[in-house]
Amino acid sequence: MFDRASVVTPGGVNSPVRAFRAVGGTPRFMVSGTGPYLTDADGREYVDLVCSWGPMILGHSHPEVIAAVQEAVSRGTSFGTPGEGEVALAEEIVARIGPVEQVRLVSSGTEATMSAIRLARGFTGRAKVVKFAGCYHGHVDALLAAAGSGLATFGLPDTPGVTGATAGDTVVLPYNDLDAVRAAFAAHPGEIACVITEASPGNMGVVPPAEGFNAGLKELCAADGALYISDEVMTGFRTSKAGWYGIDGVRPDLMTFGKVMGGGFPAAAFGGRADVMAHLAPAGPVYQAGTLSGNPVATAAGLAQLRLLDDAAYAKIDAVSAELRSLVGDAFTKEGVAHTVSSASNMFSVFFTDEPVRNYDDAKKQEAFRFTAFFHSMLEQGVYLPPSAFESWFVSTAHDERAVERIAAALPAAARAASEATA
Ligand SMILES: *Cc1c(COP(=O)(O)O)cnc(C)c1O
Repeated sequence: MFDRASVVTPGGVNSPVRAFRAVGGTPRFMVSGTGPYLTDADGREYVDLVCSWGPMILGHSHPEVIAAVQEAVSRGTSFGTPGEGEVALAEEIVARIGPVEQVRLVSSGTEATMSAIRLARGFTGRAKVVKFAGCYHGHVDALLAAAGSGLATFGLPDTPGVTGATAGDTVVLPYNDLDAVRAAFAAHPGEIACVITEASPGNMGVVPPAEGFNAGLKELCAADGALYISDEVMTGFRTSKAGWYGIDGVRPDLMTFGKVMGGGFPAAAFGGRADVMAHLAPAGPVYQAGTLSGNPVATAAGLAQLRLLDDAAYAKIDAVSAELRSLVGDAFTKEGVAHTVSSASNMFSVFFTDEPVRNYDDAKKQEAFRFTAFFHSMLEQGVYLPPSAFESWFVSTAHDERAVERIAAALPAAARAASEATA
């Protein structure tokens, strides 16, 4: 299948991190998923710790989500008109997340951040955008400077195809460094439209914000008249009922969402202050649109998923995450492997270093070659991890004791493989 794919698709995949370039080998082609398990084209079953890179927070093929999709599909798949499903999903988002007074639905996280930045520029009449090295906001041209995720995996400094003119208004700063943000505002007073940050980064591995970092960003933005944009595409509806906002309570001007809110379908959103959102067409002059935005099948899946995500669901995910973090840490300690299990709520990843990791430069200092050995050993034993040392691991409400036991059984040999690995 990979040979077939490689003939007709660059690199054989439709999104770079799916290829096994960072770890070597052939990507697994999955044919089905149930609960915490995926089954590949050779009939092998894996415990899934990727969860489609975050969206499958209830596990695969959750019966209530599937039923909602089937019900929606039976009425047609796209109308190009307003519909009740998109209103209901928007209402659910607004009800959960205080700073979101109004929301616009789109089809991918990339679209959400791209549109939020355009809106911030249109609202403020300013050009410059501040972002942080190692934060990934989708493949938006202006935000592909020192981005994490696949760019971290492949160590690409930047990407050809993004012109100097496009990236020229992007100011890239080290993460968790408020002094650098202060200096940027001092160097460009009245020119910065927005600061965009992952609410809690998960695309350079998991690197949570230092105490007071997000609050400091908000304060510096407010003082200069810039907007504070919190990218919750990964953390939204995952790290708590109200995402990372539900944890740190720092009120952004704009927020972006994706992944979990689509229930496995292409649905994403950006929203925030009503006075800012009022600048969006057709209410205001800033243009933004989408043929499939608010698609009835995608919104039905997203709404069904969000309605199942109550306090008990988050408590369950948090508990499974804590159990796995401790199992993983113990396995590496037993083998004498230098490591840090880094977490933010139920998102976590392992850095192969015992030095603190506070930003992208720190993350890159880890012994990533150990991850390669660890990854392949886990894969051989039927545990599917993200194929990169710079990605978050994800769990779901479906990860039960049996799934955890299978992971626990695979860890000793994989930790040994990591300890024996050489660069
Ligand atoms: C995944 C992600 C995006 C991009 O979303 P897509 O749906 O892949 O375009 C943007 N921001 C963050 C924080 C993400 O994790």
